[in-house]
Amino acid sequence: MKTSATEDQLKHLVKHVESLGLKANVLRGTERTVVAAIGDERVIGVTALESIPGVDNVMRVLAPYKLASREAHTETSTIRAGSFEVGGKAIGVIAGPCSVESEEQIVATAKAVKAAGATALRGGAFKPRTSPYSFQGMKEDGLKLLATARDETGLAIVTEVVSPEDVDLVAGYAEVLQIGARNMQNYRLLEACGRADAAVLLKRGPSATMDELLLAAEYILDGGNSRVMLCERGIRTFEAHTRFTLPLASVPYLQQKTHLPVVIDPSHGTGHTYMVSSLAKAAIAAGADGVIVEVHPDPENAKSDGYQTLSCEAFATMMAECRRIAEAVDRTL
Ligand code: PEP
Ligand code: MN
Repeated sequence: MKTSATEDQLKHLVKHVESLGLKANVLRGTERTVVAAIGDERVIGVTALESIPGVDNVMRVLAPYKLASREAHTETSTIRAGSFEVGGKAIGVIAGPCSVESEEQIVATAKAVKAAGATALRGGAFKPRTSPYSFQGMKEDGLKLLATARDETGLAIVTEVVSPEDVDLVAGYAEVLQIGARNMQNYRLLEACGRADAAVLLKRGPSATMDELLLAAEYILDGGNSRVMLCERGIRTFEAHTRFTLPLASVPYLQQKTHLPVVIDPSHGTGHTYMVSSLAKAAIAAGADGVIVEVHPDPENAKSDGYQTLSCEAFATMMAECRRIAEAVDRTL
């Protein structure tokens, strides 16, 4: 309460807090009076209390997200989806092209990344491109090619879904539904993925806060799907030396706030092939539970994101280096 708050204002606030179904505990200090509202404050608009006369400041105690929070779920969740596992001691490695382009391309990539130690295959069939004139993906034909690559290698498939109507179609082919950065706040899509029988890789929006990311995850969890992993893929800043700015502090921050596994994308996070391996190693050193990396047999001729894509050989080298970092931080790869 404000130091100037009257007894009547205090009584009014206590009544209001109780009318919200919370218990009001009045703590009288030497300088100020504090009202502790006991109960689940997430069900009410906490900040609305600030407009009540005599109230100085309202402080949230509980995180606004409940199911994603580490408060009630202290161990990191291990998520399994076919060959892919993330959140345990082993680091999950998702690798593959930005876009599926042909059977030859996706099967060759799948074999190469598997040989190098990847545990899932990525590849976009539905592509959310900044320009409508850019390659939009092979759509369902691309999903079929991903299924072929899974048949050939056993690798779980991670692929993006861009609209709620496509969730069942994509979930019919993939073990992991990717929600792209541009769609992190597409709430109907989040709800549809909450009902899907597939794990979800939720990417952070380039301008989204950590709370917004965690509340987006909450939509999926609240829909009944508990297999959610979060992906930091870089945010927009004033810097131009990288495509996005990749904040690795997201790893320890998220791990303190949530039990959901954290995956780092050093490809979109940097936008430059020569930086990818360094940031993948840094991510593992920082404690990331997984990485997602763009790999193509011929990056020069890739239909999308070639400038940030590793060749199969460069990916194998990256993996060998990452393995040593993983060992140093008591993880396996
Ligand atoms: C992608 O993974 O190819 C992609 C489009 O990523 P993002 O949504 O992070 O831009
Ligand atoms: Mn891409």
